[in-house]
Amino acid sequence: MSGKKEAKIEQLIDLIMDKGPLKDLLSDIGVFIIDYNGKRVVPSGLWKDLGYSDTHSFDHSWTQYLHPEDRKRVEANLKDLSNGGTEVFWEVYRLKDHSGGWRWIANRGGVVLRNDDGSPSVFIGADKDITSIKQAQEEASHRAREAGTLSATIEVITSSLDLDETVQRILEQARRVVPYDRATVQILHDGNLQVIGGLGFSDINLITDLRFPYPEEGSLSTRAIQERHPWMSNDVQDDFPRFVQVEEGKPTKSWIGAPLIAHGDVIGLISFDSTKKSFYTRRHLELARAFAGPVAIALENARMHGETYKLAMVDALTGIGSRHAFDLNSRFLFEKARREERMISMAMLDLDRFKEVNDDFGHQVGDVVLKDVSRACEKGLRTTDLIARYGGEEIAILLPDTKVEVAADIIERIRKDVSQLQFEGVDRSVTISAGISGCKPDRVSSLTEIIREADAALYRAKAKGRNCSVVH
Ligand code: GH3
Ligand code: MG
Ligand code: MG
Repeated sequence: MSGKKEAKIEQLIDLIMDKGPLKDLLSDIGVFIIDYNGKRVVPSGLWKDLGYSDTHSFDHSWTQYLHPEDRKRVEANLKDLSNGGTEVFWEVYRLKDHSGGWRWIANRGGVVLRNDDGSPSVFIGADKDITSIKQAQEEASHRAREAGTLSATIEVITSSLDLDETVQRILEQARRVVPYDRATVQILHDGNLQVIGGLGFSDINLITDLRFPYPEEGSLSTRAIQERHPWMSNDVQDDFPRFVQVEEGKPTKSWIGAPLIAHGDVIGLISFDSTKKSFYTRRHLELARAFAGPVAIALENARMHGETYKLAMVDALTGIGSRHAFDLNSRFLFEKARREERMISMAMLDLDRFKEVNDDFGHQVGDVVLKDVSRACEKGLRTTDLIARYGGEEIAILLPDTKVEVAADIIERIRKDVSQLQFEGVDRSVTISAGISGCKPDRVSSLTEIIREADAALYRAKAKGRNCSVVH
């Protein structure tokens, strides 16, 4: 070792090590110095606090008390420091304290003097306990996660059309902010709170068709709804002895119920149940409330979606499927048949001389006839068959897993049934003509193709004199 600067550093270290007050002062402000050659240490206040020894500093054996996730990284840095790869040490890590708990430490320093062989001679650093800062950061990121869950929930559930699915997703998401053993979504309907979905039950049948009277004297749910505010109980048995326990042996002991308010109206309730007593906190209550808002809107949307969906999928006059429903479902059924190499058949039906029925008996009578014929067709089919009003007085039928001969028999039977129908104020029978086509697994065609074929066969049935069916 040579040079003026080096000599000065050595002088300084000697000075510090000798003089008690100076050493303590540095220690108190968090500074630490390691003199590797002289095996002398000025430990930082924190170091003393944590109960580590001087030896722990020289041989770096303190790293064994590092948190497993931090240890590798810190040891690599120390190794770099020892072999001259770097002069700086700047790490944030967790270190074990007396009680075995973890303390977050920020440690900054560097080698100020090296030996001729390059090994560190003097290291000066400063460390600081930043546990409370870290905790605050974690709390903040926890809250950010909660907020994230809420916005994810809104997104997930507003993108979903189906009510059942919406409820399931809501409850899955909710678990991340309000922990529970069981949870339900309940809708206010006809003076009842009707359970429409739940999560965490040993058997879903425990809650399907479960309903509670509303309003009910002393009921926690009733209180939450009437006060339009979430309600909490940490001793359900005491607060509401008549609480309905559905899960045998695992009764609900703590409970939160948050009213679902959409467009100003209470539409239901979301409930969270814990089997532990005194489980819920004010914070859970607040989160349940924050959660209930978007949930209510999403539920309302799903319900309306459901109604709009029904409007679009069901033909208003006849009650059989709409053209839209046919287009959607037929594609699905056809692809399934093709994928699974199964047979599928198609029939196109048309009322014979229907214009005359309208002309002779009026359009309203015509409507009734159309409705009754449609219902008769539907009655002759299996539930797995698809039937829809395809055009004005045209009915399309798709029969999965049915070879064309069988389809022809089914349609023939329907044709005969229709011809037997009687209508009030109509002094004649009404008949239909039908065209049938089929698709075998070895004859790959397209949906449009079999529809076209059925149409062509129908045309031939009409040409043949009507009230008959023709197979393509
Ligand atoms: P065919 O099919 O046997 O050749 O004779 P058609 O009289 O049925 O012939 P066309 O297909 O030309 O006429 C269909 C008629 O069906 C026209 C229309 O008056 C009637 N129609 C279509 N939709 C409705 C409806 O919703 N209600 C009523 N009442 N009639 C309808
Ligand atoms: Mg017709
Ligand atoms: Mg027609």
